[in-house]
Amino acid sequence: MSKHFETEAIRTQTERSQFSEHSTPLYVTSSFVFDDAEEMRASFAEEKQRNLYSRFTNPNTTEFVDKIVKMEGAEAGYAFATGMSAIFTTFAALLSAGDHVVSCRSVFGSTHNMFTKYLPKWNIETSYFKVDEVDLLESLIKENTKILYIESPTNPGVDILDLELIGKICKKHNLIYVVDNCFATPYIQQPIKFGADLVIHSATKLIDGQGRVLGGVTVGKADLMREIYLFARNTGPAMSPFNAWVLSKSLETLSVRVEQHAKNAKKLAKFLEKSEHVKMVKYPFLKSHPQYKVAKKQMKLGGNIVAFEIKGGLEAGRKFLDNIKMCSLSANLGDTRTIVTHPSSTTHGRLSEEDRLEVGITNGLVRISVGLENITDIIADIKQALQSN
Ligand SMILES: *Cc1c(COP(=O)(O)O)cnc(C)c1O
Repeated sequence: MSKHFETEAIRTQTERSQFSEHSTPLYVTSSFVFDDAEEMRASFAEEKQRNLYSRFTNPNTTEFVDKIVKMEGAEAGYAFATGMSAIFTTFAALLSAGDHVVSCRSVFGSTHNMFTKYLPKWNIETSYFKVDEVDLLESLIKENTKILYIESPTNPGVDILDLELIGKICKKHNLIYVVDNCFATPYIQQPIKFGADLVIHSATKLIDGQGRVLGGVTVGKADLMREIYLFARNTGPAMSPFNAWVLSKSLETLSVRVEQHAKNAKKLAKFLEKSEHVKMVKYPFLKSHPQYKVAKKQMKLGGNIVAFEIKGGLEAGRKFLDNIKMCSLSANLGDTRTIVTHPSSTTHGRLSEEDRLEVGITNGLVRISVGLENITDIIADIKQALQSN
């Protein structure tokens, strides 16, 4: 990145039209026209870099991708309709039948379903390591292992994996190292610095930041992105120009939003640590976090997700949700609005208790995506909900 993060987020822009707009216009067009046969030929042959068709590129998606590429310190990228289409397309483009994947067990629910239900259709198997079993990771690598996949911080337990340590293992075994950086955002952590080859985001979360549009993006090494791009342009998971326009605009304020989210989250985490109704609090920048030192090494801030264990288990967790007055009960995260979830009775309710414990979801675990309301009001709501239990 040639300029500072905040500056690139604001000043990276597509060429302006003849109207000299200050802000980026929305290019709602499915295709682009050519002056003559030769220009059309050269463009399709990629001798000339320009927009042809919005399934391939569009000025709005290009602007959005260029910003993420700079923020993550990547070489190239591609924008997808959703975070899941970014994840699935990345795997589908890079893997062949018979390949093997190693992944952390604590990954986003649909990503886990992709590993267990869909990739096996193409004879692609996944082996898992738990967050506290990184020492076992190397023993899972096989002759046919191609990708190593992780998230950090993890969902919903807010555990931290050592990006640099895992990067070294990937390098040693020549694996493609893919990191879902959704919870941290590129403002807080840039996995490429620690050896990642590809970084994926669900832009739906903190990048949009207001719970309005869906989006995904993969950025990283140019040769890998070339394969992903060609696969995507033929199979069609492209982001819409409108969503790209919204998300590029959102990136202009990412740094200030994430700073405030993290400030609020840390205050809430400290409040919870003192509450008599709470057994345990997990927030990366609390000294009590088991991977506090690793978090401090690789993250600029602790992020906006706080997990805690309410005393009284499943019933107490459900009651706590019922007592919430202002915060939202919703499955999303990274919104301006504070969102409270109780994974064991909702998102992970269909798993057995044993499977839930595998990913650290105890019956009393509550996850809060701390928003941008005044922190006094957020704490007041959480406090009254804990006290009414
Ligand atoms: C939400 C999420 C996804 C999926 O993104 P969508 O935009 O909902 O498809 C992937 N990874 C993580 C960590 C997420 O939180």
